[in-house]
Amino acid sequence: MPIDSAGSPDPADLDALVIGGGQAGLAVGYHLRRHGLRFLILDAAGRPGGAWRRFWPSLRLFSPAEHSSLPGRPMPPEPGEEYPGADHAVKYLTDYEERYELPVRRPVTARAVRRIPGGLAVDTDTGTLAARAVISTTGTWSRPFVPALPGRDRYRGRVLHTVDYRGPKEFTGRRVVVVGGGNSGAQIAADLAPHARILWVARRPPRFLPDDIDGRALFDTATARRRALEAGRPDPGGVAALGDVVVTEAVREARDRAALTALPMFDRLEPEGPRWADGTVRPADAIILCTGFRPALAHLAPLRLRRTRGRIPVEGTRSVDEPRLFLLGYGDWTGPASATLIGVGRPARETAAAVADLPEVRAARGSRAGAG
Ligand code: FAD
Repeated sequence: MPIDSAGSPDPADLDALVIGGGQAGLAVGYHLRRHGLRFLILDAAGRPGGAWRRFWPSLRLFSPAEHSSLPGRPMPPEPGEEYPGADHAVKYLTDYEERYELPVRRPVTARAVRRIPGGLAVDTDTGTLAARAVISTTGTWSRPFVPALPGRDRYRGRVLHTVDYRGPKEFTGRRVVVVGGGNSGAQIAADLAPHARILWVARRPPRFLPDDIDGRALFDTATARRRALEAGRPDPGGVAALGDVVVTEAVREARDRAALTALPMFDRLEPEGPRWADGTVRPADAIILCTGFRPALAHLAPLRLRRTRGRIPVEGTRSVDEPRLFLLGYGDWTGPASATLIGVGRPARETAAAVADLPEVRAARGSRAGAG
């Protein structure tokens, strides 16, 4: 069925619209191109790189370059560095986009995805587009999770989230509480430790991975788990069974200097700082919440696909209730390790294959071939 022209002011006859031009959007674009599909990638950001452009300057990847590659093109090493920095990832993604001539339109923000005859329409801040399928790759960076902190309105210091952290300079000599026992918390605490007086707090004691385990082993564990489950063998356990925090060089140095000893989470904030259950109050100039993210899915609300705990049910990356919609790159939920550079390749390949196999897409390709 042709796409309703009223829903598609753009005359392009599109098989797929990809919403989000970070690594997940580019990886699926690479495979859509290999299938010879017609598609566009819409990206809200003004420049390539996705969330990597927003990370703090000192952040380093937790895997070497050769284990941080998207499909087709290996990430080159960063000279002199085993673990490349965030800028290097931005350069790599910029180059990837150009090399494969991926059709990215930016800045274009998708506001709403809705059903139309023969496909899905995407309302954006610059107009409406339509395609036979939509692949959502909007990541999580634009939806930081900020927990409720009793007393926050009376606290006199600054409260920030990981997304606001730009490096240690502005905290030199300050008292900073870093909240969160995951990788961001550990890395930001380690980054600040030489410059500020830090307290690291976490709901449960942070579990460091063994020093010799980096992103490579995490990816191998996720792959082994997927294979076991696919083969009907018992679940060998995921990455979480190994620990939470990758011991990067900076984390190891800070830990070995005893700068990374975490306290339990505080109960509330007083005007001068956090208060613990035993009544101890520790003055703090700033609190940095490294408390994670949620998938950025507001644009999908008109489709009414959310079920339990706000999740959109998927089989692989395809929405169970809307077979023309795919979700890619949000984490294990949409494919093991799919929120990593190396891990997104496989679900991206499977997603492009599933789009190519949609009856509407097969029919359109058939008539294009016939016309050609
Ligand atoms: P993003 O990179 O966030 O890209 C999403 C894109 O979609 C953005 O460009 C955004 O502007 C756009 N967008 C959002 N909403 C809309 C909309 N409505 N319309 C149009 N466009 C939209 N992974 C590794 O492999 N190695 C690491 O070492 C590593 N370290 C990490 C360290 C930190 C602190 C964090 C937070 C993550 C790290 N990751 C690492 C994980 C992962 O690589 C990133 O989270 C990655 O950026 C996810 O890619 P993505 O394409 O899914 O999302």
